[in-house]
Amino acid sequence: MQFNDVSVFYDYGKEVIFQTTIQTDEELKEIFLFIQPKGQSVRTESVIANENGEVIYTYDAAATPLRPFAMTDYWFQATLDDDSLIESDKFSFFYEDNRFDWNRLEENGFQINWQNKDASFGQTVLDVAEQSLEVARNYVPAEPPIQLKIYIYENASDVQTAMNLGQYKSWVAGHASPDLATVLVSVPEGPSQKLELERQIPHEITHILQYQMMGANYRNAPMWLLEGTASLAELYPNPDYQRVLERAVEEESLIKLEDLCTSFPPEASRAFLAYAQSESFTRFLYANYGSSGLEALMKNYENGLGCNEGFSSTFKNSLTQEEYRWQQQLGIHTGMLVVENVAPYFMVLALVVMPAMLSSIKTKKQQNADGEHG
Ligand SMILES: [Zn+2]
Repeated sequence: MQFNDVSVFYDYGKEVIFQTTIQTDEELKEIFLFIQPKGQSVRTESVIANENGEVIYTYDAAATPLRPFAMTDYWFQATLDDDSLIESDKFSFFYEDNRFDWNRLEENGFQINWQNKDASFGQTVLDVAEQSLEVARNYVPAEPPIQLKIYIYENASDVQTAMNLGQYKSWVAGHASPDLATVLVSVPEGPSQKLELERQIPHEITHILQYQMMGANYRNAPMWLLEGTASLAELYPNPDYQRVLERAVEEESLIKLEDLCTSFPPEASRAFLAYAQSESFTRFLYANYGSSGLEALMKNYENGLGCNEGFSSTFKNSLTQEEYRWQQQLGIHTGMLVVENVAPYFMVLALVVMPAMLSSIKTKKQQNADGEHG
């Protein structure tokens, strides 16, 4: 008995068609198709063959999405009348967003994918990616993956639909799937294009490095540290963080860091403050303890220590004590928050793209089980 002509075709986000022709003289009781996206469990589909032994099975990828940008294994199994099982070889395909035509550039450990623009745009992205990696490694000194894939979308809603994020994540602009070494960012046409690349790419690359350093245990690290280092690595600081922080200090509405260990507030403006605080506090730690301090902290979290425990094992102070020191600096020397080395016209540009900046907000609660990261 043989499984011949095995093949797969798909319309990303809609349907995946699996085909084979089963060549046998025996009666078949049932046939199963197994599908396993990388990092996920096996899905089992019951399929049927026609009188010619042909199986053409349409998997509804809209109702039950496959994992975006994952290598996906699949194979068939037939049960004979005597209950013996015959399994096909394993096959696989790369489930890439094929709603768009991608231009590609592969160089220096990066694969850059973009739409509708010429090669010079790809080169610009590559330059930003290389610079981003260098900066991000100051905060997360890990080896990059063998190949880091970056997909540049033209708008945020394409990223959201690519990742099946649903409507409640309408503010997401960028996304990282750390174990797949894949980053999606959205860069609309316009004067802020380069700035958006320089903000989103380093942020998402940092999430990839966090996974490179801590493996799946990166999820044990506090949210404020993961998002703090990612925001810190952004090539241009977000001037809105400063404004939001100053207002929170004035109104005494800062969020306790302990409350930012496992998740960020679901409400958009509080989540934005959570990012601002995380960035500022992580910057404070970096200034006081350097990259070796941040690295030691990440190692302790990687080893399973809790949010407070990991912190006080790394530094002489507890999280609350260090938070107090940080707040003192915020209150007394708000000047430390003044964004340096940013030319005024960048500030103006940044204010123009303020809404886009809000779009990077993401809460851990909303991450799916695959450890996707915004
Ligand atoms: Zn992030």
